[in-house]
Amino acid sequence: MFDLITRDIKYLPGVGPQRAAVLNKELNIHSLHDLLYYFPYKYVDRSRIYYIREIDGTMPYIQLKGEILSFESVGEGRQRRLVAHFSDGTGVVDLVWFQGIKYLLGKYKLHQEYIVFGKPTLFNGRFNIAHPDVDSLSEQKPASMGLQPYYNTTEKMKRSSLNSRALEKMMVTLLQQLKEPLEETLTPAILAQHHLMPLTEALRNIHFPASAELLRKAQYRLKFEELFYVQLNILRYTKDRQCKYRGYVFSRVGEIFNTFYNQNLPFQLTNAQKRVLKEIRRDLGSGRQMNRLLQGDVGSGKTLVALMSMLMALDNNFQACMMAPTEILAHQHYETIKEFLYGMNVRVELLTGSVKGKRREAILKGLLTGEVQILIGTHAVIEDTVNFASLGLVVIDEQHRFGVAQRARLWQKSVQPPHILVMTATPIPRTLAMTLYGDLDVSVIDELPPGRKPIATIHQFDNRRESLYQSLRRQINEGRQVYIVYPLIKESEKIDLKNLEEGYQHVCEAFPDCLVCKVHGQMKPAEKDAQMQLFVSGEAQIMVATTVIEVGVNVPNASVMVIENAERFGLSQLHQLRGRVGRGAEQSYCILVTDYKLAEDTRKRLEIMVRTNDGFEIAEADLKLRGPGDLEGTQQSGVAFDLKIADIARDGQLLQYVREVAQTIVDADPTGSLPENELLWRQLKRMRKDNVNWAAIS
Ligand code: ADP
Ligand code: MG
Repeated sequence: MFDLITRDIKYLPGVGPQRAAVLNKELNIHSLHDLLYYFPYKYVDRSRIYYIREIDGTMPYIQLKGEILSFESVGEGRQRRLVAHFSDGTGVVDLVWFQGIKYLLGKYKLHQEYIVFGKPTLFNGRFNIAHPDVDSLSEQKPASMGLQPYYNTTEKMKRSSLNSRALEKMMVTLLQQLKEPLEETLTPAILAQHHLMPLTEALRNIHFPASAELLRKAQYRLKFEELFYVQLNILRYTKDRQCKYRGYVFSRVGEIFNTFYNQNLPFQLTNAQKRVLKEIRRDLGSGRQMNRLLQGDVGSGKTLVALMSMLMALDNNFQACMMAPTEILAHQHYETIKEFLYGMNVRVELLTGSVKGKRREAILKGLLTGEVQILIGTHAVIEDTVNFASLGLVVIDEQHRFGVAQRARLWQKSVQPPHILVMTATPIPRTLAMTLYGDLDVSVIDELPPGRKPIATIHQFDNRRESLYQSLRRQINEGRQVYIVYPLIKESEKIDLKNLEEGYQHVCEAFPDCLVCKVHGQMKPAEKDAQMQLFVSGEAQIMVATTVIEVGVNVPNASVMVIENAERFGLSQLHQLRGRVGRGAEQSYCILVTDYKLAEDTRKRLEIMVRTNDGFEIAEADLKLRGPGDLEGTQQSGVAFDLKIADIARDGQLLQYVREVAQTIVDADPTGSLPENELLWRQLKRMRKDNVNWAAIS
């Protein structure tokens, strides 16, 4: 058998160097193997032929059998079109083409039997089918009379007449050449246990399903395999790491923790906070190095959980460190934590880029002697000059601004890698988290502290600006502060900045007695911080900003979030922005301002925002509406996301199932040496080699 993986696509009969070049470039198809794994995006049932008299205008794509009675060329210039009057004896439909008229006239003959395939629409009282597929009866092989595959193609491909039909023909040729079965990629045990179709049969049926039932089985098999290897990769990697590194054992919960809990904690922990603390406590005592992702909606009280985890480290004579993505946030954490620890004998320091000279030296020295117990900071804490006596726990806040590489640098700050707690307010649906952060365990705070007033979200069209400004004025008169956010999307950065500037001018004019500050990503950090500080301190009543304020800023007195051009934001981003308000005791508002004309799915997005404050519900909806590729944080995660057939949004249950299958295998074969699994490890190795992203995390 020839080797599919390496066999160049250009050698497939009917392809050749020119078409191969297009396939390389447009679809990244290089080998026969690549082609075989280019799956259809839909199938159309061609098992039934309809009569023309049955057509009723509500039909999807259908198939007719008949002959062309006559051709007619209608219209002038760009309106020019070719009409073929087509009949099967029960009625007449018009087949219409707007392009390639000369070619078509040469190709199709009158009074010959054809199979016509397309979607009928009613036009001027007659049914017509625009740009139908037309095959002569002899072309129509019995195999393709069942479910016909449709392949995605690009504009460039169509120009080289590489349409779905052409790809279908290549698949036929390829499968004909495939005389022997391909090497199986799952073990006999897995195939038997989970009732999976053998690989070769699945590949045949994914392209040319013999029936709907066999298609379903083929899809299941291929999705299973795809998700299984994604999970096996992550779990294998996790297991290797566990075998290689021992974690520090924090065996006691001692004086510092208990003093804080009994004397300093100003309120009851929520049940969710208690549960998560128990999960963390278990990890820290286990001897395994903790790698835990803590998810909690904005305002759910993650900082407190982080602090109490750090106190566990202190009780065991370890130091702890907390990293925030910006100076402002680091500063806020520092203030909050100092306040929480008031009166306790714990030394906390703040280290950012702007801490210099003697002050910096003192902190660095204190870290080396162990006198500084908790260090809070920005990226500055991972610089080479920063060294600890015994770093036991690192908390990373708003993790998606920290790359995998930066996490790795932390490990070198200590003899053994410290425990790591990553906190994020971007609620990632469970299924996605399992794939993205599969090497992390996940804890969720799914409960807000009591007494919060839910934020009222209102959708308003931008032609009602006067009434919007009036309500803002009322809030400001009551002493509240207001955010006004503009979108900033890379490709249109210049235009967006102009919008922001204009918006700023406009707001300044509309609120002449207010101090309005302005923040955007193109400002120098110092300038940005100064503007932010005006708002944090309460001097400025209004902040006009781009999405840079999205992450973690806490100004409890800000009670209104206005989002301009809300239609341009994704759901998760809107939710993040909304989370900037609703932190104080007052009723807060989020006002989504949009154009009057909205696309259907935009309207849906906004409706979800108005309806619910639940970040997880929103994240699930976002995943369904947009698909995982667009979700925030997925790009930076460094994890492969090139799924060919499985769909994270729709195949969540299967993902969970295969994860357990993979987990069982890794647990039973921790060193990857059982002979019955040899095939799996070999296949995994091959996939890691072929996939840059997969290799990057391992
Ligand atoms: P986030 O999860 O967004 O980081 P924070 O940790 O900033 O949330 O908490 C938001 C606010 O809620 C803070 O002012 C914090 O002190 C307060 N808080 C946290 N836990 C509780 C609790 N159990 N009961 C009451 N208030 C709490
Ligand atoms: Mg926070």
